[in-house]
Amino acid sequence: METPETVSEGHTFKSLGVVDVLCEACDQLKWKLPSKIQVEALPVALEGKDVIGLAETGSGKTGAFALPILQALLETPQKLFALVLTPTRELAYQISEQFEALGSTIGVKCAVIVGGMDMITQAMALAKKPHIIIATPGRLVDHLENTKGFNLRSLKFLVMDEADRILNMDFEAEVDKILKSIPRERRTYLYSATMTKKVQKLQRASLRDPVKVEVSSKYQTVDKLQQSYVFIPVKYKDTYLVYILNELAGNSCIIFCATCANTQRVSYMLRNLGLTAIPLNGQMAQAKRLGALNKFKAKARSILIATDVASRGLDIPHIDIVINFDIPTHSKDYIHRVGRTARAGRAGKSITFVTQYDVELFQRIEQLIDKKMPLFKTEEEEVMQLQERVSEAQRIAAMECKEEARAKNKSKRGAASDSDTEEKSSTVVRKRIKKGKKGKSH
Ligand code: AMP
Repeated sequence: METPETVSEGHTFKSLGVVDVLCEACDQLKWKLPSKIQVEALPVALEGKDVIGLAETGSGKTGAFALPILQALLETPQKLFALVLTPTRELAYQISEQFEALGSTIGVKCAVIVGGMDMITQAMALAKKPHIIIATPGRLVDHLENTKGFNLRSLKFLVMDEADRILNMDFEAEVDKILKSIPRERRTYLYSATMTKKVQKLQRASLRDPVKVEVSSKYQTVDKLQQSYVFIPVKYKDTYLVYILNELAGNSCIIFCATCANTQRVSYMLRNLGLTAIPLNGQMAQAKRLGALNKFKAKARSILIATDVASRGLDIPHIDIVINFDIPTHSKDYIHRVGRTARAGRAGKSITFVTQYDVELFQRIEQLIDKKMPLFKTEEEEVMQLQERVSEAQRIAAMECKEEARAKNKSKRGAASDSDTEEKSSTVVRKRIKKGKKGKSH
């Protein structure tokens, strides 16, 4: 899922029909040439046709649907002009960022309407009648049913982004409701990574005479990506992780774990060793997830520890290294994970941890990518020198996890907020550690 592969067969945004002011916006974003999906989709969309696009995040598909919408908006300025439906909150914010960046000179106003955020604030944003609404289906239906004065009867464009995921997340009923409350006379763009039966059904129900465009970026990994593995006993995984992070210090890194609990444990462990790690998983409250991503994007944290929630869809521009700490059980997830690096023509590395239990899964991955990976070089002696410090960090991390679980249980019974409890639990543990250390130091 190598980031937008651009094509130089003489196409420019201008030659595809994009107006000057938007070409300038692309230029400012350093989009020098259109990506493949943009070359395919833009002329069709600018002609006023419905588009069904088979493309993944990373292909430049947001530009492929945002540019024609903005161009139409320039021609006939109007509030509540377009609606973009997308499966996750993170994607919604990313899409909104791209609309705002492309539309900054023409004063485009967007509203992001997603679950987990305050309804009233959203209702106020909708009352101001933005040009573009980017929403997850559930929360949008909530507003259509409960927010006085809000309707989408003036809508001119509908985008269904990552339609396969929207439908897999059981949003079918919500999508139906939304389709019923918007005008039939409109343009529709449907983007999906895969063409499933459900997507076909949705296409028949919502698109008119669409043109299909497709880029095949599936199941390929890019040449600029150096993929490797380490083969290690399961009990030394943490120690090897610390060794490798030290070896690769100065790079930005994403570490994939199989469970939310493990992301939390590993980040505590690394933090106890002075590394700037931050977890990102589906169990964190929305505000915390965004906070985590923003800290990482702003480079205040160089190590992001994530579950597969983060391996799809997220646009994190500067990752140098992907570490598969827990090997993915579905080999296709491997492609998505390593697709987080070596984007936009930059180089990147991936290192997959293979323990005695993971050999079969690893072989499946090699089969899928049709490549034999080299071993990532490690010096066993040096690794083992870290063992003692890592054990201590693990012990403290285990206490921190326990303390956090206890605090969370307490807060469920009505005490402090999510973020408060985590702060408190860490502070309590650290105090205990200090006490413990004092006791020991004689
Ligand atoms: P998307 O697939 O729409 O999520 O886009 C992935 C990333 O590619 C985003 O960071 C975009 O800003 C970037 N991008 C989109 N189109 C282009 C382009 N033509 N040239 C360079 N980068 C692009």
